[in-house]
Amino acid sequence: MTMKSIFKSSKAKYTVFLSLITALVVFAGLLYIFSVNLVLQQDNRLHFDEIASETANSIEHKLNAHISAIGSYAYRFSDFENLSENEQLAVLDEITRTSIFSDVVYIDERGNGLSSQFGEASLFQREYFRDGMRGNSSVSGSATGDFSNERMNMFYVPVMTGEEITGVLAGSLEIDYVSTLIDTDSFNGNTSSYVVDKSGSVVLKPLGDILHVETGVSLLESVTLTSDSELEILTKISPSETQGNFLFDYNDDSYFASYKAIDCGDWVVITVVRSSDILAVTHNVMSMMVIFTIVFTVIAATAIIITGIRNWKSKNVLNNIISERDNLKFIDPLTGGPSLERFIENVRTIFDSTAPETHTYAMISMDINKFRAVNDHLGYEEGNKILAKLAVLIERSLTEGETFTRKNADSFCILINYVSDIDIFGRIDTIISDVYYQIEEFKLILSFGICKVDDLTMDARSLIDRADLARRTIKGNNESSYAFFDNNMLNKIREEKRIENVMEYALESNEFKVYLQPKYDLNNHSLIIGAEALVRWFRGGKMIPPGGFIPIFEKNGFITKIDKFVFEEVCKQQKIWLNRGFDMRTISVNMSRMNLQEPHFVRDLYDICTKYNVPTKYFEIEITESVAFENLETLTRVFNELKNYGFHISIDDFGTGYSSLNMLKNLPVDVLKIDRSFLSDAKNERANNIISHVISLALSLHMKTICEGIETEEQVNLLSSLRCDMAQGFYFARPMPIEDYEKLLYSDAELTV
Ligand code: C2E
Ligand code: MG
Ligand code: MG
Repeated sequence: MTMKSIFKSSKAKYTVFLSLITALVVFAGLLYIFSVNLVLQQDNRLHFDEIASETANSIEHKLNAHISAIGSYAYRFSDFENLSENEQLAVLDEITRTSIFSDVVYIDERGNGLSSQFGEASLFQREYFRDGMRGNSSVSGSATGDFSNERMNMFYVPVMTGEEITGVLAGSLEIDYVSTLIDTDSFNGNTSSYVVDKSGSVVLKPLGDILHVETGVSLLESVTLTSDSELEILTKISPSETQGNFLFDYNDDSYFASYKAIDCGDWVVITVVRSSDILAVTHNVMSMMVIFTIVFTVIAATAIIITGIRNWKSKNVLNNIISERDNLKFIDPLTGGPSLERFIENVRTIFDSTAPETHTYAMISMDINKFRAVNDHLGYEEGNKILAKLAVLIERSLTEGETFTRKNADSFCILINYVSDIDIFGRIDTIISDVYYQIEEFKLILSFGICKVDDLTMDARSLIDRADLARRTIKGNNESSYAFFDNNMLNKIREEKRIENVMEYALESNEFKVYLQPKYDLNNHSLIIGAEALVRWFRGGKMIPPGGFIPIFEKNGFITKIDKFVFEEVCKQQKIWLNRGFDMRTISVNMSRMNLQEPHFVRDLYDICTKYNVPTKYFEIEITESVAFENLETLTRVFNELKNYGFHISIDDFGTGYSSLNMLKNLPVDVLKIDRSFLSDAKNERANNIISHVISLALSLHMKTICEGIETEEQVNLLSSLRCDMAQGFYFARPMPIEDYEKLLYSDAELTV
């Protein structure tokens, strides 16, 4: 065999081998393309289903919010028929003016409808009247109004008188407005969502209707179904809560549809998209890959290019899907309004497109006081409906260049345009009165914090923080109220933060000291019967009074550590005096309310006494009166426990809270500390009568009384005459370091040994 022939035969083999490999690569490439195509299609559809489902939820929330809006008036019609005709018209007129509906109609059980604007009409044949009389609340498909020629949707609820349905209340809204409720902009606006009934007839359609179907017409019959028959689809959508998809052709295009049942009118939302829109990206991937596979037959190059393109394209598809999902992130599912993220973006867009001298803005933070009570009374679902209704009210109050969001739970943020403060008050008053008239299930008390925007470059979050800060200063009021943000609030927060940053270190490095303020016997003014322990903070050579840090520690919980520290310091001191054989006096220690929530609170105090071997009877625990009002049950449990361990108990600042002696009579209290505010004016006869009354009542309950804040001899004499047992105040002695107290109390004469 010559070298040439060898070469020739191996070349032939090589060519065959290469052809085979090429064929294999092309085949593998095509197979690969085919499977990628399938996966991408599937993936896209799945994500379209997800988007359609979120869209259905959002539509459901919006429709239900409007049904609740009309429902909130129904109770006013339970004795409607007893009113004179003028009175009836006045009620309807007031509701039509204040509600979001264009017209409000009451229909009695015989089907006679009355509208304040259009008078009377027989509505007996109307399906919404009949459905309402069956006890259902819903919205009708659009139809020409009974009183006008415009196409309307009726949102209706039954009117109950006692247990009986005595009529139907309906609010009409123009079809164009209702269409905006179901408009979506998913898939770059290439989708349309239709609300259909269980027979497939279109009840509501969006403004941008890509199928051009009319309401009342069967959507399934208007298109050519390709994946399932009409019957199959209808069978699938009949049971509620179901969700699925199908394919159809319409006007030479194929479409993909995803449906989901909603909890409103026994309806289904069908969202449709052109298959070419949903699959556009997939098709691009496929055709490009075919070209590449044919041109590049070299294995490595083909593989590398296919993989490269696949990665690149998958990423694109994924990005598309992620951006669709992000779109949904921008909707608050509960209210259907903008989410916080969208709100923040909106605010930025508004600010960026505003010339600073043309507009002034204010960020309003709004919160419902004690919204928990609404949930507790009406249940979460009703609570959610109220929030959705509130969102509708706010949304309708907005003008051009304004936006809002439900920030979380029951708190909303609104960006408004204003010219003078009066505009801001006006806007707030409108919201308060809208809520008052239109949300009648529960009397909502609102708090508003307002931050005027003086710098359009500020980010929305900081503005919200400031408005929140202002709002928190008034939260808890019993009436709706508002507060403006000012820079002092910021300084206060900064100061609080500074204190929080150093408190732990300060405790470890002994910056806190215990002072004692002696208490005196009013029968014998020179007799010290004990003392109250009061904490002091020495920092950087200065003494910070308790008012500067106790409220902050009460907020952040650090107070329980301070109280224990003070108690232990007192305990150590009592032990020293006990060891020296001194005549022992009770020392009272203030315990903040937060301690009461700690399960081992009393046990921990007892353990400290055991550690130093000091009997509990040398301690009095002072708890302020307002705690009793907040939670008498917990207080009773803790007091009984304290008593069982042998501690004395006093109620501090009595008279500043809302409790009465009657409330406290079942508590094992030893001492009542009457607040110094009672002593503001010793000549005030009424105030003296009250003190005298409190003292005699305390006496009858076997409690001792002490008056704190005694500053004058006049006060001393008055209290002595009223038979108050003890006194504490600057008149006798100020709070002092323990060494000074020791000197004052345990002079040689006082030593028992
Ligand atoms: P409090 O328990 O009612 O203490 C009495 C307050 O009245 C003390 O203020 C005391 O210095 C002040 N005082 C006493 N006599 C007079 C007087 O004649 N005239 C006037 N104007 N004031 C008088 P202080 O020490 O500033 O404490 C304020 C509050 O801080 C205390 O009120 C108590 O509620 C709280 N506090 C103090 N130390 C502690 C502590 O260790 N733990 C807790 N939880 N709270 C504490
Ligand atoms: Mg006290
Ligand atoms: Mg007090």
